[in-house]
Amino acid sequence: MITIGERQTKSEIPFDVERIRADFPILDQKVHGKPLVYLDNAASSQKPRAVIHALKHYYENDHANVHRGVHALSERATEAYEEARIAVQKFIGAPCLRELIFTRGATEAINLIAQTFGRVHVHAGDEVILTALEHHSNIVPWQVLCWEKHANLRVVPINDDGELRLDELEKLINPATRIISVAHVSNALGTINPIQKIIDLAHQRGVYVVIDGAQAAPHLRVDVQKLDCDFYAFSGHKVYGPTGIGALYGKPQHLELMPPYQTGGDMISYVSFEKTTWNQLPYKFEAGTPNIAGAIGLAAAVEYLEEIGRDSIASHEHRLLEFATERIASIPGVRIIGTAKEKASVLSFVVEDMSALDVGTRLDIEGIAVRTGHHCCQPLMERFGIAGTTRASFAMYNTLEEVEAFAEAVEKIVASARPRAGASLNGDYPYPQAAAPSTREAAEEIAEVFEVVDDWAEKYEYLIDIGSKLPAMPDVLKQECNRVQGCQSTVFMHARKKPGTPDVIEFLADSDADIVRGELALLQRLYSGQRAGEVLAFDMPAFMQRIGLDKNLTQGRRNGLAEMVQRVMRFAENVAGQKP
Ligand code: PMP
Repeated sequence: MITIGERQTKSEIPFDVERIRADFPILDQKVHGKPLVYLDNAASSQKPRAVIHALKHYYENDHANVHRGVHALSERATEAYEEARIAVQKFIGAPCLRELIFTRGATEAINLIAQTFGRVHVHAGDEVILTALEHHSNIVPWQVLCWEKHANLRVVPINDDGELRLDELEKLINPATRIISVAHVSNALGTINPIQKIIDLAHQRGVYVVIDGAQAAPHLRVDVQKLDCDFYAFSGHKVYGPTGIGALYGKPQHLELMPPYQTGGDMISYVSFEKTTWNQLPYKFEAGTPNIAGAIGLAAAVEYLEEIGRDSIASHEHRLLEFATERIASIPGVRIIGTAKEKASVLSFVVEDMSALDVGTRLDIEGIAVRTGHHCCQPLMERFGIAGTTRASFAMYNTLEEVEAFAEAVEKIVASARPRAGASLNGDYPYPQAAAPSTREAAEEIAEVFEVVDDWAEKYEYLIDIGSKLPAMPDVLKQECNRVQGCQSTVFMHARKKPGTPDVIEFLADSDADIVRGELALLQRLYSGQRAGEVLAFDMPAFMQRIGLDKNLTQGRRNGLAEMVQRVMRFAENVAGQKP
């Protein structure tokens, strides 16, 4: 294995990562008492001082509405907004300013294309080609268009490494094909798709190409003119800029013919009740007051990125990815998902006998931020036969030491994984006994444990421990009707009225995530074996606050827990309602 030291001396381009880190104030903090290691950059990257200062400067000095005022501030704001357009235009090599439209992000840009260009060009019986590794943002807008137009979606398959099957793409293109929409880089796997080849192939056959560049813009040099794509979309917050801003490049001949996406102020040239005409490009597609500060912040971000040097950034990130891949691949019980030859900055993996949610929660306790779940790529997860992955994604400010800390944490977590015992299909499956004579007393007992520990790591271990003792739920009860929706993991709950009682409820439950099993065990202790009326009267939010879980669980987990509580409440209501 190559050591950190060897990797650093192998570096061809000097890259002062510590200097870069100093530009990102957010990185200098502790999370759960450990130095923050931020590896969730594919979801959103952090902001350098240059961006923070640009936003602050704009709001402190120049803010007014754009394109409308006759006063100095409006003039300055307009100038700054239009200069931002020039910076972003240069960033992706768009030949002309009128081809560069500010949007809320990649999602809005793709919706815009589908709802305008798509509506004009796609008709009944036509086909739109996507790929198996697309983000939901590059699936659903096309799906909705195809439903509306009675057109059909076709999907380019991938191989087991997560690479597009170009041979299959060639076969899929036919006279009915109108548009191919494809990610430049996959957010879930990191695969860099051969978009130049795809564009050339499509154009030879008269097919338009849309590129979802959300994951490429932060890592790769993008030149839309050279690519000759019809559209290119990306989001500001992934290129170290603010949220709520992004850009869409489109060939002018398309943009000219496309109807507006949204209508209202600024996108018109003349309005009367009889007739309205559209403003010139790009304003035809920027209805209403735009995100002026966002555009200015985005310009500061792309200028910062260019100053550091995109090739230096790419080679630094490549070193991080190589090192991380090597370290994670060598851990027994871990499988990397996405092993394409050409990859950018993303390492996705699954751990045997442990859900991604558990891996992510345990990494968070170590101060390491990663993403877990399906990454808005459910069809891709299905292709690999998995519920989700743990994804570490790297940015220019990450270090080899951080990768090492991450790999060591994964090693520790994997070593703690316990093989799952399967419940038998037949025979008895006892429901849990009441943990205390009443819900209130059960709550007191739980609170006593939680009140002596205020450290989240210890509370977490307690939850994992009680979760490991959750009574087995037989597979026969793990059916869709018992599935709790809205959770980040698979959760089943099956409740019944305790036989021989008028109003006592009891339930069995299970999840693929240890942390969720812990939450289910907590609910069982509170509610299972108790009278429906008491269950309904119990003040769960106050209890959560008392034991501190309202602060320790993430919003996503709190929502999941609320869904589970709701399930119990609905059942308790039914039972209480049936009582003679
Ligand atoms: N496409 C890809 C490949 C992405 O990774 C994302 C964001 N995860 C999007 C589209 C959507 O970007 P946004 O949410 O910023 O609109």
